[in-house]
Amino acid sequence: MRGAVMTAPGDVRVAEREDPTIVEPTDAILRVTAACICGSDLWPYRGADDVDHTPMGHEYVGVVEQVGADVRNVTVGDFVVGSFFASDNTCEICRAGYQSRCVHAYPMGAEGTQAELVRVPMADGTLVATPGQPDPDLVPSLLAASDVLGTGWFAAVAAEVGPGKTVAVVGDGAVGLLGVLAAKQLGAERIIAMSRHADRQALAREFGATDIVTERGDEGVAKVKELTGGLGAHSTIEAVGTQEAMTQAIRSTRAGGHVGYVGVTHDVSIDGTELFFSGVHLHGGPAPVRRFLPELIDLIWRREIDPGKVFDLTLPLDEAAEGYKAMDERRAIKVLLTP
Ligand SMILES: [Zn+2]
Repeated sequence: MRGAVMTAPGDVRVAEREDPTIVEPTDAILRVTAACICGSDLWPYRGADDVDHTPMGHEYVGVVEQVGADVRNVTVGDFVVGSFFASDNTCEICRAGYQSRCVHAYPMGAEGTQAELVRVPMADGTLVATPGQPDPDLVPSLLAASDVLGTGWFAAVAAEVGPGKTVAVVGDGAVGLLGVLAAKQLGAERIIAMSRHADRQALAREFGATDIVTERGDEGVAKVKELTGGLGAHSTIEAVGTQEAMTQAIRSTRAGGHVGYVGVTHDVSIDGTELFFSGVHLHGGPAPVRRFLPELIDLIWRREIDPGKVFDLTLPLDEAAEGYKAMDERRAIKVLLTP
């Protein structure tokens, strides 16, 4: 099969890879309908994470092509969505709703989903079948549920978004934008999107943002305070993972408020004294997307939400290199790849 491989930072190629096979009786093999490039794939692309001939991709939707002897919940021919972490969905951590930290958690990035086929471990716990074969126009939204929507949703839940609340969103990538969508769905009264890019501001507004703040850092914090009577937001979504974004998120939140952080953290440190006196709750990490999949698939299936709008560039898998380049140069918000 063909699959995207990052040979070195900045160098993505689509190469012939070995077809995946059933290794454990709980595995399934999917024929990938659509995969995509994640903001977090840009960390190795830019040299911030180690990479050496690494298969790429952890987001996926597809059709079950083969199942191991012990798989019960999905069958050959099912259209399925899975999280970027495979999980058993039965351990104590999973049952508490934290499947990305399952005691058997397995990162799908290790399989590389930007490919024609992919092996999914713990298929019963990991995969959720859609009610039928989706209309083609639903595929991007279902793919979004695999990571960016689920992650934005978790960020909003972790930030305790709810009716009557003011939400600030730090980060205007796909996760931040879908954090806006989640906040709207969860009933937020006011949603402040922090973005300096006109196209992303427009999408944020479409997803439910009521205010746009273009300033960053302390100026951005001052602007959020100004919009909230000097108090700060009740709930803040941090969807970047840098020091500036985390600091901005904590400082934009009122005492007693909540920060939901989902940007993959890179060299972030938090000053203990500042945290102590901020009085804010911090909760986040790798999103337990599996927890939300049934609900998100249902919302998409009933066409109540259209998170697939974050994909503003679709390319054949063979042109994955151009997709990485477009995201790296911020010419595209998120790139969908069709094998
Ligand atoms: Zn588990």
